[in-house]
Amino acid sequence: SDVLHIVGGGMAGSEAAWQAAEAGLDVVLHEMRPETSTFAHKTGDLAEMVCSNSFRSDDDEQNAVGLLHWEMRAAGGLVMAMADAHRLPAGGALAVDRDPFARAVTERLHAHPRIRVEAGEIDHLPEDGHWIFATGPLTSPALGQAIAAATGAEALAFFDAIAPIVHADSIDMSVAWEQSRYDKGDTEDERRAYINCPMTRDQYEAFIDALIASDTTQFHEGETAGYFDGCLPIEVMAARGRETLRHGPMKPVGLTNAHRPEDKAYAVVQLRRDNKLGTLYNIVGFQTKMRYGAQAEVLRMIPGLHEARFARLGGIHRNTFLNSPRLLDAQMRLRARPNLRFAGQITGVEGYVESAAMGLLAGRLAAAEIAGAELPPVPETTAMGALLTHITGGADAKTFQPMNVNFGLFPPVDAKGGRRGRKDRYKAYTDRAKADWQAWLTPQPAPADPAPA
Ligand code: FAD
Repeated sequence: SDVLHIVGGGMAGSEAAWQAAEAGLDVVLHEMRPETSTFAHKTGDLAEMVCSNSFRSDDDEQNAVGLLHWEMRAAGGLVMAMADAHRLPAGGALAVDRDPFARAVTERLHAHPRIRVEAGEIDHLPEDGHWIFATGPLTSPALGQAIAAATGAEALAFFDAIAPIVHADSIDMSVAWEQSRYDKGDTEDERRAYINCPMTRDQYEAFIDALIASDTTQFHEGETAGYFDGCLPIEVMAARGRETLRHGPMKPVGLTNAHRPEDKAYAVVQLRRDNKLGTLYNIVGFQTKMRYGAQAEVLRMIPGLHEARFARLGGIHRNTFLNSPRLLDAQMRLRARPNLRFAGQITGVEGYVESAAMGLLAGRLAAAEIAGAELPPVPETTAMGALLTHITGGADAKTFQPMNVNFGLFPPVDAKGGRRGRKDRYKAYTDRAKADWQAWLTPQPAPADPAPA
């Protein structure tokens, strides 16, 4: 049949339902709350914001998340429209009055003639019909098991342990150097996938002191079950013993400082290339529960990272997400079962805005496919497309961790070493994105019939 089923009425599912219904499709939206809830949700409303009330920066010229706002508004997004309607004064950020916002989204979806909201948990992956799964970071356990059974347990994570991610162009390469440990790797490209930051003994001791003294966040109740095998936060490792990190992720062996080969580093922080573009690097083994402010300050103590800009900071959370680079195609379908799409945080994006954005795409892609006219690829020069391209193929499947939108995901506007200032560069990204997004949204005229001879 031509009905689209959407499971999960959070940020992504709500937006997907709206987009598909507006495109003319009949939609059933399945939501398990309020009967079954999660540790973070408090209401039965759709699109509940579980923690902060911020959609982050609303600057659509200089900020990638602001650009995502712009693109969703241009596409008639419900989540953005209701966020704008319930906006709280907050300078350049888009803060949202959460309860009226969620109630307004709920009312609009219930009132839509093409949408039926059905209460109840879905605990399996259906064989037939068109489905979008948008069950979020706290996907119900039964459904989580069903997904793991279909994808293979190793392709579904229940926690993220995110190491901070740095913009490559903010690493000081007069201090750091490229080299894999023991020069391992079959190709030149693999051997150059790592960047190393050396520490003297004094620098290491000061760094350990800062880690131990840092301000950290706590786990939520019920959040830690099954966790903590083999991926401790760095500040916990430091607290266990001052030498622990030097024998763990910061071990200095198998590396030679390219700038000062005679100096033996006391410890080395290693970064690993995080995307095919080579614009982002993650700090290997540096998952952390340090608060964001403290984190940036402590990490900038690392030689070579004094001026680092972070594409995202580290964190450890309960988070159900797929290994999307392996499992999903560019249309967000499960490769092995193309009647099933995934959207939202479960696809490995992170945040309210990113989740709603992936819901918007999934709703449109599904609606077009069911109507018999698949949409062209989403341009990777747009915020939507950059994020989608990252999760469905740009990111390395082996180390895949959830991602926020950021300019490091975009194909560069300048050739390497381009001299444009950052402000101009970001403006160039957002100008290009807006034009390309508008073009993608504009329906292409059907090819004309060949003229009669
Ligand atoms: P959700 O919004 O969680 O929606 C998923 C929906 O699916 C829920 O309504 C759930 O009840 C339902 N569901 C689950 N399983 C089933 C099932 N089997 N059958 C039917 N329905 C089901 N992001 C930020 O931007 N800022 C923050 O401050 C922030 N804080 C967070 C704090 C916590 C504790 C958590 C867990 C996440 C936080 N996030 C935050 C991330 C945030 O959850 C997501 O960005 C966003 O809500 C995800 O959208 P989603 O639609 O993918 O999932």
